[in-house]
Amino acid sequence: MNIPKKVVLCEVGPRDGLQNETSILSVEEIVSLIDSITESGFKVIEVGSFMHPKSVPQMVGTDEVFKRINKKEGVEYRALIANMKGVERAASCGCRKVKLNVSASRAHNLANLNKTPEESVAGFKETVIVAAYEGIDISGSISMPFGSPWEHIIPMDDVKKIARTYIDAGITEISLSDASGMAVPNQVYNICTEMKNEFPDVKWILHFHNTRGLGIANILAGMQAGITWFDTSFAGLGGCPFIPGAAGNVSTEDVLHMLDEMGVETGINLDGVIRTSKMLLEALNHPADSYILKAGKSRDLVPDAPVIMQYDR
Ligand code: ZN
Repeated sequence: MNIPKKVVLCEVGPRDGLQNETSILSVEEIVSLIDSITESGFKVIEVGSFMHPKSVPQMVGTDEVFKRINKKEGVEYRALIANMKGVERAASCGCRKVKLNVSASRAHNLANLNKTPEESVAGFKETVIVAAYEGIDISGSISMPFGSPWEHIIPMDDVKKIARTYIDAGITEISLSDASGMAVPNQVYNICTEMKNEFPDVKWILHFHNTRGLGIANILAGMQAGITWFDTSFAGLGGCPFIPGAAGNVSTEDVLHMLDEMGVETGINLDGVIRTSKMLLEALNHPADSYILKAGKSRDLVPDAPVIMQYDR
């Protein structure tokens, strides 16, 4: 199987997971959560968002969380923003990486913002300039490039146009986010292969929600296309307020367990992640959407068994 030897998992649970919870965790709880996932070895953590508190009350403490977390050298702590205001808030609380988002669905973007996706992205240019001035790195996300509840199929040319507009605005790290959970593996493989060929200088990140149980299959398809950056969420937390029945991101433990057993390096300690996720679920008081939290690692059945390393054989 042709897959990368190493991948980077970006833990997005503190933002994408917690923003969909009915109970709002305190700043202290979120800080200790982020400190413990830092200890598990994640190199990228999405800490929260700088949105209007009325639209996302769960993320109201993000500024304070950034001030209090133990930032480890070499770890990227990022936040989602909607506009320039987000960069200003990031700058004043020590956040050095922000992420913008646009919907690949024309119908969705026009209905919400009265702009095409390209007009939205072109409007980010000033935000990118201010971020650069503040020394803050910036990335862009394209949501629903694999399918939307409005159009169903998003033409690949539309996704390319949005990517090109991001690049013109000065953003070269782009994530493809299947918020609607409509992606399937051969489509993921084809789109990733084509986007990589067309935009070889872009750093691509994949973000899959597990709405129809295909998150982990889609990650594997992305790996086969040579993608090495993936978002996951502890305990599979998350959802999407405007997508009916949307599930969370594919669970961090499930993806990490698969990668560990396949001998793909991540630098992340699965036992640490399992401990954190279990503590988190106790605080949230509901069951997990994560196979490993329910069944345990296959390794626990035969602790001394060797890892099946495709690279070492
Ligand atoms: Zn998401």
